[in-house]
Order: sequence, then structure tokens, then C-alpha cells
Amino acid sequence: MSTKPKKFLLSEQELPAQWYNIVADMKNKPLPPLNPGTKQPLVAADLEPIFAKELCLQEVTQERYVDIPEEVREVYKIYRPTPLVRAYALEKALDTPAHIYFKNESVSPVGSHKLNSAIPQAYYNKMQGVKHITTETGAGQWGTALSFACKLFGLDLKVFMVKISYEQKPYRKSMMNAWGAEVIPSPSNQTNAGRKILSLHPNSSGSLGTAISEAIEAAVSTPDTKYTLGSVLNHVILHQTVIGLEAEKQMAMADEFPDVVIGCFGGGSNFSGIAFPFLRHKLTEGKALRVIAAEPASCPKLTRGQFQYDFGDEVGTTPLLPMYTLGHDFQPADIHAGGLRYHGAGTIVSQLNREKLIEAQDIPQLESFEAATVFARAEGIIPAPESAHAIASTIREAKKAKEEGVKKTILFNLSGHGLIDMSAYDLYYSGKLTNYSLPQEEIEKSVSKLEKLVP
Ligand SMILES: *Cc1c(COP(=O)(O)O)cnc(C)c1O
Repeated sequence: MSTKPKKFLLSEQELPAQWYNIVADMKNKPLPPLNPGTKQPLVAADLEPIFAKELCLQEVTQERYVDIPEEVREVYKIYRPTPLVRAYALEKALDTPAHIYFKNESVSPVGSHKLNSAIPQAYYNKMQGVKHITTETGAGQWGTALSFACKLFGLDLKVFMVKISYEQKPYRKSMMNAWGAEVIPSPSNQTNAGRKILSLHPNSSGSLGTAISEAIEAAVSTPDTKYTLGSVLNHVILHQTVIGLEAEKQMAMADEFPDVVIGCFGGGSNFSGIAFPFLRHKLTEGKALRVIAAEPASCPKLTRGQFQYDFGDEVGTTPLLPMYTLGHDFQPADIHAGGLRYHGAGTIVSQLNREKLIEAQDIPQLESFEAATVFARAEGIIPAPESAHAIASTIREAKKAKEEGVKKTILFNLSGHGLIDMSAYDLYYSGKLTNYSLPQEEIEKSVSKLEKLVP
């Protein structure tokens, strides 16, 4: 038995007091988002009809550090700081010389990292006097996180939930109801955006893009109401850096600095959250570090998408964001990692990917479930199907270390647990899941419709 420490824990006093904004340390800043009407660079005020004012300011800030409000830190302490774990049993199962660590975000009461941004978003809205919040949710994690956060701050919440998840993951809906939110399957006939999609595709299983369109429309057409987003945007990524800031201190306790940092990739929030505080040392001190975004092979925006201005939603109501995209009307396959079924990547991540400061891997669905199973049988935690993509990349890197006979330190983010995703595991174990290979023509078809605003 190993007597070396397995868990690295911080005290509540060591909870970070500030979030980290990597834009301050980027030599080439991301291109500006554009107002879709004027095609001119967006200013914070353009976002204020949709989002709380403080979040609009955070969206465009160039400050390196942003203070975490004391009220937010107090709520974070319900589950933060989260453990950093050395995965000895996984290392043994893989017979690898690699040292594998994971940051365990699955310990949050809602089961994923999403609460890290839901809490400050609810807080800033409450401080501004907002009464009602709308949002969308894919697999249901963002909706559950925000339901709890809104309840804590006394806000009323309406969630547009992607229809396929509403049907496949009924317990996520039950959780949102438990925390007092109203849940509507999207596309719905409550909004113009939903009605339009239903008239074109009556059997649409929904997408995050459509649900975003519906939630924004519902927010701007209802008094005292704001919209919130659980990924992609700069302010969400800012909040999630609490993950990497803690992990940085914990890796130092383990007396290691990672050679590779890995996160699964939907819109980029948990990936950026774990990676940016480490990437800072590569940008500012030239430290050797690889950072890998693990995305599903069926929704491969970073590995196969195009860098172009595109909308964040399907109908085209959001600002135009410079990002790696598959096209805003791209319809991802119905894979079980619902939280990764999104057409684009955040603008900061996209700029970093363009400059090859980060890399991406696309993971087939079956490889992700195989990796999840190896991890669960070694470490005991059943990972979210999304997180399983990060585990698959970790296993690839650990096997490579074995082949090459080199010691390598790998850190990945366990973004959530899979205890409410067991129906997907059942399908996998009964041999009913398949890989989905995406034809290049399908990507080109949706990307070719984009206006070429990037020279
Ligand atoms: C939402 C979600 C993701 C994907 O979203 P990102 O913004 O890319 O992090 C990944 N893992 C889990 C558990 C999620 O809930």
C-alpha cells in the first residue's frame, strides 16, 4: 500500500480571493465580438439588455485579477476548495510511469463545475435588483446549477432544456424542480425562435443553440428579467478559473508542475478553468506545458471547425463572436455527452488555439465510455460522459508515456460525476452505443453559410 498522500486539500481560508483573466497575459488579444447589426466592435453596454451589468463589465475587462465578492466566497465554501487527487489506482491499471492527478469538481452539490459560475451570476443579478432569470441547459447540468444558485439568492428561474436531454435525462429536470425552477423542453412554442425551428423541423430534438435563442427572447421580452449563459463567454471562463487557481496551489503541495493539463470541451469553461492559471506560466515565463482540449468526434469545432465570426445561438440573436465553429445551425449527433453538443468555442480559447498555444483532440464516443469505465473501476467515481472525454485523452497520454518510457505529470479536470447519466452507461454496456463519424461535407455545408468577417 502506498503511504504517499493521495488527496491534496486546501482550507477554506485558502480559497482564492480573486479570479484570473488570461487576456491580460495574451500577447495577441482575441478579436473583438461584433454587434450583429452594425458589425462594429461590441461595447459592454450592448450586452446590458441581456446580462447583469457587472457580468457585462467582466466580459470585456482586461484586468489580470478580478475580486471574488465575499458573499460568493461564502457560498463557494459549501463545496470549495475541491480536492486534488493523485490517481494511483488509475496509474496502476494503465501500468504507466505517468503521474496522474485530477481535480474533483464532481463534489459540488449539483455534481459538476457549473456551480462555480452559477453562484456569481445569480449574485450579480440579485445585487442589480433583477427578479427573474432565464437560461438554457443542454444535458441539464447548467440548469441544475443555476436552479440552486437562484434559490440561494431568491431569484425566480425559467430553464429552456434541450428536448433530447429533457427526454433522456428526466432526473435533471426533477433536480431543477427540487430547487424550484420551471423547466420547458426546447424547441417550445413559447417563443418565436422555438416556433420557427418547430415549423422547419417538427421532430427537432433541440440543440443548445436553439435553447439559447429561446431563453434570450424570453428574457428581453419580460420585465425585470435577465438571461444567463453557462459556458463560452469570457465572464463564465473567468469564474471557472477558481478551479485552476486552487489546483495550482495543490500541485505545489504535491511538489509537481504538470507537463500536460487536460479538460473536456463543450464551450470551454471547465477546460479554461483548469488550464488558464497553468497556461499563464507558459505565456509569461515560457514554461513547457501542453494543454489539451478533449472534444467529441461528433462535434469537433477545434479540430475540424473554421475560425470565423459566428453567432452563439442557432437563430442568430447573440453578438458575433470570433471563434472556431461548425456553423451556428450545425445539428450535432445525439451523443450522450449532451454538455459537449455545442457548435462553437469561446473567443479566448479560439485565439489560443489559432496560435497553437493549446491543442485539441477529438474523442470517439465509444473510446470515451471505455475510458470512463477504466477510471470508474480504478478510482470508484463514475464520471459524467462529458468528463470521460478528458479521461480518454489522459489515458492516451499515459499510454504514450509508457511507450516512450518517460515520466510525465498529467492533470485533468473531472468536471462532474455521471450518477444521473446511468441510462447512457446502460446503453454502452448493452452494446447499443455507436461511434458517429462526421462527414467533412456536413461541416463544410454549415460553415460555408457564414459571412467571411475574418480577413
Ligand atoms: C457543461 C459540462 C461540460 C461542458 O461545458 P464546458 O463549458 O466546456 O466546460 C463538461 N462537463 C460537465 C460535467 C458539464 O456539466
